[in-house]
Amino acid sequence: MMDIQAFRKNAHQMVDWMADYFEQIEQYPVKSQVKPNDIYQLLPETAPEQAEDFQAIFSDFQKTILQGITHWQSPNFFAYFPANSSYPSVLAEMLTATMGAQCMIWETSPAAAELEERMMEWLKEMMGLPNEFVGVIQDTASTATLCAILSAREKASGFTINHTGFTGKEQFRVYCSSQTHSSIDKAVRIAGLGSDHLRKIEVDEHFAMKADKLQAAIIEDIANGFTPLCVVAATGTTSSTAMDPIKMIGEVCQQHNVWLHVDAAYAGTAAILPEKRWILDGLELADSYVFNPHKWMFTNFDCTAYYVKDKGALIRTFEILPEYLKTKNDHTVNNYRDWGVQLGRRFRALKLWFVIRSFGVEGIRNRLRDHLSYATYFEQEIKQRFEVEIMTPTHLNLVCFRFKPTGLSEDALEKYNQGILDNINKSGKAYLTHTKLDGKYTIRAVFGQTYLQKKHVSALISLLEEVNTEHTLKR
Ligand SMILES: *Cc1c(COP(=O)(O)O)cnc(C)c1O
Repeated sequence: MMDIQAFRKNAHQMVDWMADYFEQIEQYPVKSQVKPNDIYQLLPETAPEQAEDFQAIFSDFQKTILQGITHWQSPNFFAYFPANSSYPSVLAEMLTATMGAQCMIWETSPAAAELEERMMEWLKEMMGLPNEFVGVIQDTASTATLCAILSAREKASGFTINHTGFTGKEQFRVYCSSQTHSSIDKAVRIAGLGSDHLRKIEVDEHFAMKADKLQAAIIEDIANGFTPLCVVAATGTTSSTAMDPIKMIGEVCQQHNVWLHVDAAYAGTAAILPEKRWILDGLELADSYVFNPHKWMFTNFDCTAYYVKDKGALIRTFEILPEYLKTKNDHTVNNYRDWGVQLGRRFRALKLWFVIRSFGVEGIRNRLRDHLSYATYFEQEIKQRFEVEIMTPTHLNLVCFRFKPTGLSEDALEKYNQGILDNINKSGKAYLTHTKLDGKYTIRAVFGQTYLQKKHVSALISLLEEVNTEHTLKR
């Protein structure tokens, strides 16, 4: 077994490896090139009976595991949305892991609870969120959205469904756009509302929810005996960072007394920039709001900021106080166990504190502005160099596009773009993913990796040029 001397020695070695990894990250293929089962086959069928030497374990990590890792922290990672880390965030995670504190209630680590409270206030102030909002850290946006829908359900039922279960008479309806994230479908199922009661509202030509269609759907549902429960508006959809009109949606919600939850999981970070704060216009009409520092705000997964207007409704939905968890401070402190699904909680506020202090708010703003400028640069360059179609306006740092050589049918265009994407990703030099917009195959390029520089964007453009030329010649 590893003793403390060995721990110290190994830890130093790990830290050196970590720094080397970051320095050399561009030498790895961005997207792991292994095939299904490759790694599994390399792993022994049974656990070792005898203690193994740490050097052997570490060596197997490098030989076996690393090849099956997609390098999300590579500056050549342009796929999905980023799951950023940063040097200070990684260091905070080391401390968190070392202390291994279980931060379920104030008493189990007062600093964790109070730092979390303060960090949620910092973020609120940094982003100009409505003053009445009170925040709590959740593991993921999916969980935060589930909390919102459960709170809405409990509030609408006078906090009875938690106790009596559904009577069978409730006919709740939840609304989101056809572009909203799958976590809403999941939350509606888990909350027992039934996915048949989730209505997907039509979007406009820029993939944002049409508020008048929402209004019509709600009126129709009321006429048919349903109870509109919750609307989930997206600020920055996953496919294309489309922005639902929160203000107009909020007015519809107020009129019908419906809970409004705003999902800004990715795009919310942009609100730190005064010039991008318009993305949250109307947020004062929302009952709850979520964004993920673990996507674009340089903070290791997982760390989700969830804000609510009615803290009481949240706590009443989740509070359970068994005898063994009662403490004499219960009335004066935040016991975050009661603010969400999990009992046990990691100390997540520490990495936020490290990140915000190490970058400074100005440093974060500068980084975000760099990212936005890279997206603009990329879009301008590809428009000049290639026959491309920009599929939707670039609000932030996601560019949605496709190659569109003249004379190709829709089917042929899909194959053409798919081929380009496959070749890029096989090259290991960059990683891009796709979506479909209006049924059209669309390449997504996100410029949000922490240590991304303009030279990486230029390299991506050259790579696209190379691969596109090969494809044109093959036609
Ligand atoms: C990424 C994303 C989510 C899900 O985030 P998790 O934290 O992984 O649950 C939800 N909504 C939107 C708009 C997203 O982009």
